[in-house]
Amino acid sequence: MIFTPDYYREFHCRASACPDPCCRAGWQIPIDEKTYKFYLSAIADIEDNTEVSDGERIFKTRPGGECRYFRSDGLCDIYIKTGGRLCEICEKYPRFFEEYEGFTEAGLSVSCPTAAALILQKTADCYTGLERSSPDPLLQLLADSRRRASKMIFSERDPDEAAKKLIGFGADLQELIDLKMTDKAGELEFLPMELIPAEEMAAARKYLAENTEALSPEWKPALLAPPKRQGSAVQRRNYLQYLNYRYFLKAINSGNVYAQCAAAVFLYCLAGELPFDYEKNVMTVSRELEHSAENMALLTEMVG
Ligand code: SF4
Repeated sequence: MIFTPDYYREFHCRASACPDPCCRAGWQIPIDEKTYKFYLSAIADIEDNTEVSDGERIFKTRPGGECRYFRSDGLCDIYIKTGGRLCEICEKYPRFFEEYEGFTEAGLSVSCPTAAALILQKTADCYTGLERSSPDPLLQLLADSRRRASKMIFSERDPDEAAKKLIGFGADLQELIDLKMTDKAGELEFLPMELIPAEEMAAARKYLAENTEALSPEWKPALLAPPKRQGSAVQRRNYLQYLNYRYFLKAINSGNVYAQCAAAVFLYCLAGELPFDYEKNVMTVSRELEHSAENMALLTEMVG
């Protein structure tokens, strides 16, 4: 069974009406073997427009990062030529899937502007179905704790206060895990910690500008621009809930729930001060950081 947030099935790709198509994001898109075999028989120029990188067949891009099959009318030439036969990654995007011991979760990535708009405007709690059952006691503890954190975020009027409580909760929970006192986790209260001070945020943005590889030419100037206060309370709360949903359980792999909460809160703070409108801030942070394992590792190390 795959668990999803309530908005999951509401998503529909805007295709040629999309304001910022994923096909122009500059990503390296691997093509699965089965689809590539089909493309070899169906698309005459497929070998010219793809290449092998790190052992994977990927689409070549034009200067600026646009997929070579992206047409000037905003449609995908492969989709048209094959009657809609996309490779697995293009077919699934912006859906993501996480497999855990005992259950699988899916969601929509806010790197897609349509998914970001859908998620950020929700007024109801879309994460009410977070009960999970796992044979792994640590995973079960994390899942139960994440459910409590999600409820806290939704019920807190000020999302900044919720972010402070999330990071404090992560720190306290990690301490219990380290002390092997996880039987006390259900009694933990949400005690706030300070958000990242302005001068530390400025230093972190500068560090990211110097150390991350940019997909978009707008990324580094945006990081170095003076901070702006962006986003309504509803948008910021929904983004924080999304981050909590997406990152809390990854502590089962990283071994550090505090670092996961700190990374989530850093992304929350960063999207709140970039110079675009809030939806674009969230999308940009996701494209540049969330979709790069190296950048996320850098970030978790920086804040953890
Ligand atoms: S970014 Fe989202 S809405 Fe836009 S083309 Fe890609 S999947 Fe469709």
